[in-house]
Amino acid sequence: SLTLGIVGLPNVGKSTLFNALTRNDVLSANYPFATIEPNVGVVALPDPRLDKLAELFGSARTVPATVSFVDIAGIVKGASEGAGLGNKFLANIREANAICQVIRVFEDPDVTHVEGNVDPMSDIETINTELILADLQTLDKALPRMEKEARTKKEARPAFDNAKRAKEFLDSGRTLFSAQHEVDLDGLRELSLLTAKPFLYVFNADEGVLTDEARRAGLAKLVAPADAVFLDAKVESELLELDDEESVRELLESVGQEEPGLHALARAGFHTLGLQTFLTAGPKEARAWTIRKGATAPQAAGVIHTDFERGFVKAEVVSFDDLVEAGSMAAARAAGKVRMEGKDYLMADGDVVEFRHAP
Ligand code: GDP
Repeated sequence: SLTLGIVGLPNVGKSTLFNALTRNDVLSANYPFATIEPNVGVVALPDPRLDKLAELFGSARTVPATVSFVDIAGIVKGASEGAGLGNKFLANIREANAICQVIRVFEDPDVTHVEGNVDPMSDIETINTELILADLQTLDKALPRMEKEARTKKEARPAFDNAKRAKEFLDSGRTLFSAQHEVDLDGLRELSLLTAKPFLYVFNADEGVLTDEARRAGLAKLVAPADAVFLDAKVESELLELDDEESVRELLESVGQEEPGLHALARAGFHTLGLQTFLTAGPKEARAWTIRKGATAPQAAGVIHTDFERGFVKAEVVSFDDLVEAGSMAAARAAGKVRMEGKDYLMADGDVVEFRHAP
């Protein structure tokens, strides 16, 4: 499954956040036999639609979609000037499908800031610079080979030109993700360039910032169009120790949050990875399944079972809202809200589906 790699300068709260991510019990609750790597944290994608479906279908349980975060320790300023980013760091981050950077906005005289003071923009630039330099090294290695190919094979020319253009953007200090409309990122895929991955930013803040709309808007603007999530990592881990809703609400209120930051983080992670969900429901469970945006009905069926994709006949689809309005599957059918979709149908977020497949 797709993952987001957590990066950030030392002392910004990565471990604190990661501990919170690993301590919530979504996996043990729903996948008791799942084994996960120690450096992977899995969170549920909050979805109030599941409870509603469970109510309509009398489902015994709900199973949410999940988002996986990988802890990638070890980035420091100047890494690329010395020995370079560590091999383990590079291998881990290349495997991640998106990058989640934690940025410190909290002030705490007891926690040293590696750069001397809290300065989000400078932290973002520091990390970007390290990733950009790593990509430049990769490109500098690949370009001579690509040039040679371009000289002997006409078809190889566009790939070489594209790679040269990518290098120009990196040289000017831009990430490739920010240049995605000017550079063909798909054409560079085999190089697994780090800055071509989508970015997501987590501002680890205290109450002062969390309750300051204007400050938050300013920080969000720094990273737009990437998603920005605001949370207090320490509070997130404290929330997990509370087992009654009242205490949870009180603690959240004390830092001006309406919901746990991990919820917002799960949604932003899901969005950054380009994912969406579709829903199934029955007496056993009401469940959200993860697919890429733009997935077809047979591809969605394949997420449930490979046989469903191979034997796909059609999908019976109703939108969640129409289903709820009708009150039951039978009523939705009677109201003409349930559609029979074929193999070219592009799934929409929140489709409630039943697949018909040949044995
Ligand atoms: P890492 O080096 O990025 O993994 O950072 P850590 O998670 O180890 O955090 C460094 C220090 O900052 C620890 O002492 C944490 O308790 C503290 N810390 C982390 N998040 C917060 C926060 O939101 N507010 C405050 N005041 N301290 C925090």
